[in-house]
Amino acid sequence: MSATSLRTHLCGELRSSHIGETVSVCGWVARRREHGEHLAFVDVRDHSGVIQCVVDNVVDVRSEYVVRVTGVVRQRPDGTLNPGLATGDVEIGEGHVEVLRIATPPPFPVDARADDVDENIRLQYRYLDLRRERMQRNLRVRATVNRAVRAAMDAQGFVEVETPMLVPSTPEGAREFLVPARKEPGSFYALPQSPQLFKQLLMVAGVDRYYQIARCLRDEDLRADRQYEFMQLDAEMSFVAQADVLAAISEAVLAATEAVTGERPGTIEQMTWPDAMNRFGVDKPDLRFGLELTDITDAFAGTEFKAFASAASIKAVRVPGAAGEYGRNQLDKLTDRAKALGAKGLVWLKAAADGTFESPVAKFLGPGEVTAINDRLEVDPGDLVLIVADEWDVTCEVLGQLRNDLGRPPVHQGPYRFVWIVDFPMFVGRDAQTDRPKPGHHPFTQPHPDDVDLLERDPMSVRSQAYDLVLNGWELGSGSIRIHQSDLQRRIFAAIGIDQEEADRKFGFFLNPFEYGAPPHGGFAFGLDRLVAILAGEENIREVIAFPKTQSGADPMTNSPLPVAKEQLDLLGIRVLPPAVKG
Ligand code: ASP
Repeated sequence: MSATSLRTHLCGELRSSHIGETVSVCGWVARRREHGEHLAFVDVRDHSGVIQCVVDNVVDVRSEYVVRVTGVVRQRPDGTLNPGLATGDVEIGEGHVEVLRIATPPPFPVDARADDVDENIRLQYRYLDLRRERMQRNLRVRATVNRAVRAAMDAQGFVEVETPMLVPSTPEGAREFLVPARKEPGSFYALPQSPQLFKQLLMVAGVDRYYQIARCLRDEDLRADRQYEFMQLDAEMSFVAQADVLAAISEAVLAATEAVTGERPGTIEQMTWPDAMNRFGVDKPDLRFGLELTDITDAFAGTEFKAFASAASIKAVRVPGAAGEYGRNQLDKLTDRAKALGAKGLVWLKAAADGTFESPVAKFLGPGEVTAINDRLEVDPGDLVLIVADEWDVTCEVLGQLRNDLGRPPVHQGPYRFVWIVDFPMFVGRDAQTDRPKPGHHPFTQPHPDDVDLLERDPMSVRSQAYDLVLNGWELGSGSIRIHQSDLQRRIFAAIGIDQEEADRKFGFFLNPFEYGAPPHGGFAFGLDRLVAILAGEENIREVIAFPKTQSGADPMTNSPLPVAKEQLDLLGIRVLPPAVKG
C-alpha cells in the first residue's frame, strides 16, 4: 500500500528483513552529516519514521529539502545501531539522492524540540508543525477513532445522515455564529451548535437510528478543551429507553478506545448525579484516583464550633500521609485556593499518632467530633484532613476542585475510566428574575418516569432522563431521552414559566412537527476532539486538531479573522460600526 510510482517503501518501514533489497524512499531531509569527502549521511523522514541513508552523490541537500533516495538496504556497521529508532538496525547504502524540491530553512526544528516553541508560531507554520512525529501520530489516532466510531455505529444499524450547516438562529443554548443571507439583506442563518433539531426531526421522519460525525460551532470563549468548531459523534434513536442509548454509545467509545490502544476497557459503570457530587464534588469525576469526599454534617449537629454550627453541609477529604508534606505555607495556599473557589474558609487537621489532631481549630472540636472524623474517614496517623463547611453545592465544588488539584494524574497516565452520570436533576437553581426553576439540560428532556407527579408539587426534586459520559474527569458529552408528548411538554414549559404563546413563538418550528407523530426517542453526542486528545495523551484538544484556532480565536496561519471589502458588505446590506472609542 505504501509503494507508489516514486517510492518502493516508506522510510519507517525498513527492517533487517529488507537487507539486500534495492529500495526508493521519499521524504524530507531530517538531518545531514558529512562523512568524509565523498559521502554524507542523510536522514530522510516521512510520516512513518526516519531512515538513515549513506549517500555517495553528495549533492546540496539541506534540512527539509524534499528528496528521493534510491539505494540498497544494509545492516548498519557494528557500534552504530540505534535502538531508539524503529529502523535503527539498518540503513540505505550506496544511496543516490534526487532533490524533488528545495526548501527554505524552517522557523523551528521539525522534531520534538518544536514542543517548546511558542504555540502561535507553531500554528502560524502548522504545516511544518504537523510534519512532526507527535502530530502525525495524533492525526492518525484521530482517523482511527473516526473509523472505529463509524464502524461501531454502522454495525448497530445507525444510518449516517448529513444535516445542514446553514440553520435558523435559535433562542437557547450557546452563542451562535451568524451568516448574513445575501438574498435577504438583514436576515441571517446561524451555524449549527449541534444538529439537535434536525436529528429529532429525523426521528419524526422514521429514520429510527441516526448518526453523524458532525461539525458543531459555538461562539464561546476558548479553553484547553474547547474550540469554536468541534466534532461530535451525534446520534439519535427511536423507540428506546435510556439504557438503549447508553449501550449504543458505550459500544462506540469502547470500540474507539480498543482501536487506538489495543485493549477494550470493561463495561462502563453508571453513577447517579447525587453520588458523583457527594463522592467527588463534581459531575465529571476522575475515577483514576481516590481522595473521595466524606459527608460529616451530622457529626456536628450540636457542635460548639461556630464555623460548623450553621453550615448546611460539612464534607471532608483525607489525604493519606500528607501531614508531613504540607507546611504552613502550603496550607495557607490551599486555604486561599478554597476561598477563591467560593468557600468561607478551609479547616485542616493533621492526624497525630494518638488519635488527636493538630490544627488551629483543634481546641474547638469536641471528643465525639474527633472520634467521628477518625472513624468516618478511617484516618491514620500522618494523614491530612481538609474540611469545608458551607452550602451543599459550595462544599462539593470546593472540595471537588481541591481533590483534582491534589490528586489528578496527567492525561497521558491512563487508565481509561469511563463513567455514565445519570439521574441529573431536571431543574438546577431558579431564575433570578422569575424565581422559576431553570432546566438542567434543556426543556425537551424527559423527567424520570417515577418523578413526573412531582413536576407541579416539588419541581426541584424531579430527576431527568439526561446523562453525561465522562472519561478521566473530562465531560465527553451529554444526551437525554426527549419529550415526545405534547401534554408533558406543556407541563415542563409551565414549570419554567413559559406559556403556550411563548412556547409557540420560540419553539414552534421545532415542536409543531411532533404533532405529526413523534416516536419516543432519545440521543446523545460526544466530543471526538476530547476523546482523541485523551487517547493520544494530550492535555489540549488543539494538539489533535489539524488546524485549530488559538486561545483567542485567531488562526495565525491564514491570518483570520480578517476585515472584508466594502463591496462584499454592501452586497449583504451590512455596515460595520467604527470600533467603540475606549474611554
Ligand atoms: N445536542 C446535545 C449536545 O450537543 C446532545 C444531545 O442532547 O444529543 O450537547
